[in-house]
Amino acid sequence: MEVIVCGLGPAGRAVAHRALAAGCSVTVIDPHPDRAWTPTYAAWADELPGWLDPGVVAAAVDGPTAWAGREHRIDRVYQVFDTAALQASLTLDGATVIADSGVEVRPRSVRTAGGLTCTGRVIDARGLARSSRRAEQTAYGVVVARGELASTLFMDWRPDNGADPDDLPSFLYAVPLGNDTVLLEETCLAGRPALAPDVLRRRLEHRLRARAIVLTGAEPVERVRFPVQGGKPGGARFGAAGAMTHPATGYSVAAALAAADTVVEGGSVWTPRARAVAALRRAGLRALLALPPREVPVFFEAFFGLPAALQLSYLSGRDDLRGTLAAMRALFADLPPNLRRTVVASVVGDRDGLRHLR
Ligand SMILES: Cc1cc2nc3c(=O)[nH]c(=O)nc-3n(C[C@H](O)[C@H](O)[C@H](O)COP(=O)(O)OP(=O)(O)OC[C@H]3O[C@@H](n4cnc5c(N)ncnc54)[C@H](O)[C@@H]3O)c2cc1C
Repeated sequence: MEVIVCGLGPAGRAVAHRALAAGCSVTVIDPHPDRAWTPTYAAWADELPGWLDPGVVAAAVDGPTAWAGREHRIDRVYQVFDTAALQASLTLDGATVIADSGVEVRPRSVRTAGGLTCTGRVIDARGLARSSRRAEQTAYGVVVARGELASTLFMDWRPDNGADPDDLPSFLYAVPLGNDTVLLEETCLAGRPALAPDVLRRRLEHRLRARAIVLTGAEPVERVRFPVQGGKPGGARFGAAGAMTHPATGYSVAAALAAADTVVEGGSVWTPRARAVAALRRAGLRALLALPPREVPVFFEAFFGLPAALQLSYLSGRDDLRGTLAAMRALFADLPPNLRRTVVASVVGDRDGLRHLR
């Protein structure tokens, strides 16, 4: 049967590429099928499938740093993709490419805005539209010469960005891009609403000044804004559309690459355990959104103080229920009493999360 992939972001392109590799006949539909991806994507090396071309990695860092109350080394390899190489490696040779929008996307057919109807096994990878109901991640970053970065910072919550401690907090994300440049990005992990780009720009400039990094104003800029909530699990949906975005990090690219073969083979990426893990992580996001701003670094100090295996269980993979529960239990035990109360109140109020846990 024809495989029809609607949407050619990382998720759709990965699944179309793997369906072609498996010998399927594939049609892809996207209004801009050749549009070049521009975001700086990254992932933990241990999340990526073996079939991925190693040439898509722009930089790999063994043991990036997280700063909250103190410095923590994260004992894993973090990889920054060469975005253009990643897109190019997910070849679509042999697919029928339709430059159009799917307006009626059903499990066995897609009708396009241009009036075409395609029938087959549909995979809906149309991503997520922005909505005021969804928490978003925002960031503002600049690309500077590599010498400006002492270490790779997965999250740096140190309070030198000039923000009022009672305002929504942001952290510094700093990664090498592999061409003697680094990306320095002030990031609002999740907010409803999230911080505006000009607030993040001012905080970044303040923070970099405090670290004696001088910007000329001519640096290339990266702006980030995408929902970290939403999408519906199951059905024919995949990637962000299929609720595969990790609520704690906003990441979904590695998860989609890793799950592409399962989808091609007709398996479910939403096992009962994966649903329970997702519900727990949604409750985690709810707790994060409920924390008083000045307590957010305290929360992350407890998180990055967890054993590496528990951090991994919470941040990566989709169906390690035992590990996710153990990580949440250990984190809860390490939180100060006032934060425990906030966490309990936010989780108990998460009827959606509890429903999925039953
Ligand atoms: C600057 C930036 C940096 C990021 N960094 C990371 C990171 O380091 N790691 C990570 O995992 N994630 C990162 N993200 C998040 C990541 O971009 C998303 O999680 C990811 O793009 C979701 O992939 P997707 O393919 O599911 O959806 P999308 O990337 O949103 O792709 C959806 C595709 O569907 C197409 N489409 C939309 N409507 C239709 C329609 N009606 N018919 C047909 N096609 C349609 C769109 O044109 C698009 O090509 C970042 C995001 C940004 C903006």
